Amino acid sequence: EWLSNKIAAGEVVERPSSVVKELVENAIDAGSTSIEIFLEEAGLHSIQVIDNGSGMDEEDALKSFSRHATSKIEKEQDLFRIRTLGFRGEALASIASVSKLTLRTSDGNGGVHLYMEGGHLKEHQPTALRRGTDITVAQLFFNTPARLKYLKTIQTELGHTIDFVNRIALGYPTIAVKLVHNGQTLLQTNGRGQVQQVLAAIYGAHNAKKMLPFEGENQDYKIHGFASLPEVTRASKNYMSLFVNGRWVKHFVIQKAIIDAYHTYLPIERFPIVLLYVEGDPQLTDVNVHPAKHQVRLSKEPELLKLIEDTIRSAIREVIR
Ligand code: ADP
Ligand code: MG
Repeated sequence: EWLSNKIAAGEVVERPSSVVKELVENAIDAGSTSIEIFLEEAGLHSIQVIDNGSGMDEEDALKSFSRHATSKIEKEQDLFRIRTLGFRGEALASIASVSKLTLRTSDGNGGVHLYMEGGHLKEHQPTALRRGTDITVAQLFFNTPARLKYLKTIQTELGHTIDFVNRIALGYPTIAVKLVHNGQTLLQTNGRGQVQQVLAAIYGAHNAKKMLPFEGENQDYKIHGFASLPEVTRASKNYMSLFVNGRWVKHFVIQKAIIDAYHTYLPIERFPIVLLYVEGDPQLTDVNVHPAKHQVRLSKEPELLKLIEDTIRSAIREVIR
């Protein structure tokens, strides 16, 4: 099993940001309202994620490191109704197999401390802790030198993590998210559910004031979000963030619908900052296309595209005339 964990790690754990992603998604699944992420050297030295979620009892903590330990799929049918983020049950096992991992967790009744090296349990003892989970992943890839070689510069690796954490903050404004790198706070949101506060934390208060709120619905979908005035643009399409039922996804056709909504208002080769939340019956949204690629297949797509384009266009037209 140890070897298959190490092989699986190659698929799940590509770089420090993949570790952050898996740990943060677990924290969200555990119902946390506060998630703090501390990185040293962009996570190459260490990654610590502290949450105030459900935590685990001793038995579950030990089980969480065996592959397919997921508590999140009861029946195969559930695959079509996935609302939680993780459902492969192999992230923790994979991460543990390629790092030196410390887990401290408590469900509110006592706590447990586990320490693993390369997937082998080295320490296991009770610890005093309030409810929640505190995981530190140190020396990632210490036993897979080939993987280490693929990593880019500190700045590039940090960039991946910042992109991801920004998206989480935008997708979950009711979670207080904090990101600290080498002692410096890079992002802090207050978790009070105001998307505008999150926008200000990420893009600056000045730009956040120039984001127009919009909302709309058709028979199948509800959408809402914020769209920047055409004077606030970026050279990249990456600032158009889309969340379908709480999950961040890439969807190029929707990006095109957003750009079309701006019509002639957008300068050439410039793109808006847009935050778009789509809610719909999970039966209409197949997020299981590929767990790592963040793609989604949407039923009744033409109607949804029209809704998005029309809603954003009228929000813009209202202020520009
Ligand atoms: P998955 O998320 O796909 O279920 P993981 O390997 O990421 O698989 O996690 C295994 C299990 O460990 C989860 O199903 C969950 O029960 C437990 N777990 C992991 N992280 C946390 C956390 N931060 N808080 C509470 N439980 C957690
Ligand atoms: Mg998970």
